[in-house]
Amino acid sequence: MLYLGLACLEYEAKFSISRIVHLLAVEVMSRVPGNVTPCLEFLEKEILERERMMCGDFRDFQDLLDNLKSSGHSQCTTVWTKDSVAYRCRTCQVNDASAICERCYHQGDHQWHDFVMYNSDSGGCCDCGDKDAWKEEGFCTTHRLSNQKKGHVPFHLFVPARETVCWALRMLSIWVHKIWEERIKDPKASVEDKIQAAKLYIDWLQKVCSVDALRNLLSVFVTRKFIFDISFDVDTVSPLTKSVQRVANSPLKILLKTIQSMPEALTEGETTLFLQMLYNGWFKREFTQELMLHYSDMVIDVAQKIHDYGHHADFIRDCKALDSTLDRVMVQLFNVPKIALIEEQHLLENFISVFKRVLEICLVRGTATVDVKHEAIRQKVYLRPQGDLRLMSLIHM
Ligand SMILES: [Zn+2]
Ligand SMILES: [Zn+2]
Ligand SMILES: [Zn+2]
Repeated sequence: MLYLGLACLEYEAKFSISRIVHLLAVEVMSRVPGNVTPCLEFLEKEILERERMMCGDFRDFQDLLDNLKSSGHSQCTTVWTKDSVAYRCRTCQVNDASAICERCYHQGDHQWHDFVMYNSDSGGCCDCGDKDAWKEEGFCTTHRLSNQKKGHVPFHLFVPARETVCWALRMLSIWVHKIWEERIKDPKASVEDKIQAAKLYIDWLQKVCSVDALRNLLSVFVTRKFIFDISFDVDTVSPLTKSVQRVANSPLKILLKTIQSMPEALTEGETTLFLQMLYNGWFKREFTQELMLHYSDMVIDVAQKIHDYGHHADFIRDCKALDSTLDRVMVQLFNVPKIALIEEQHLLENFISVFKRVLEICLVRGTATVDVKHEAIRQKVYLRPQGDLRLMSLIHM
């Protein structure tokens, strides 16, 4: 009976049976907390099938991306990771954090300018084409304002594109949540297969984010709520003490809530994805708001874990990866004067309170004296809120 039903669906909706079965499997998987092993080959095939659905009359997925890219682009949206080459130009930059990518440098005219090529310490984002961060005369030929035009997804492809993007966000959220669940039970749990599954969707979403029109779609839907079978209130200390519920959460909330428990291999990819979306002004505001809800948990959790577990090499490496995420993101949040944003989100109060709570974790028991030999002090956890306060004041005061 089930097969007959599926066959009818296949005929009527032009869905393949394998896809319907897989969708059912995903639905079931998202409801089952605990250990589910991903079949990477199956997930890869599913991605290809989704890409085909999105293509419409285009030859293949790459052809679709190329066409959408040429139909409209705004500023450069290149994101680089640490140790990449980038350029600063004192003649063109608007603030000390501004930088451009290698390609934009070579396509622009900086002859006789006060420029410098450097190896990026923690990664960055290209500012070419953004008047708030770079002077117009320093824009490269591709990103000059006269060449910028708004990209959009063709009308007939909008629904499949939206559905595919939402599907990938949901799949990423499910795998990230499963990794988080297991690592909360056991911080040293081996979750390599799930990391590979999550990476498939991160890589795909990064590719989609390189196209203006699709990035705008992604930036909106990453903040929309989906139904997940998990409990994720921001006040919940541990999900294990609560029964599993169907609750609506946005992928952005899930990604930020779990990021401090993610292995380094995922943190970097997630951060690059955030930075790509931060080129969308609307997303920047939503992201700052959501990040500030979790910032305190992120930093205090690190101090608390160091307090509880002491020095553990893998754990310290993951903490450093989280720190590098916040380094990369914070610079982008404060790269344009947005005093209103700082006041609205009470950033000053937030950073000061986190700084105070980190020191409280490191007090000598029963006293008000900070133990300078505490591992969290040795690992300089307090530098996070202190550095963010400094960054904010450097740019705005
Ligand atoms: Zn660039
Ligand atoms: Zn450029
Ligand atoms: Zn220049």
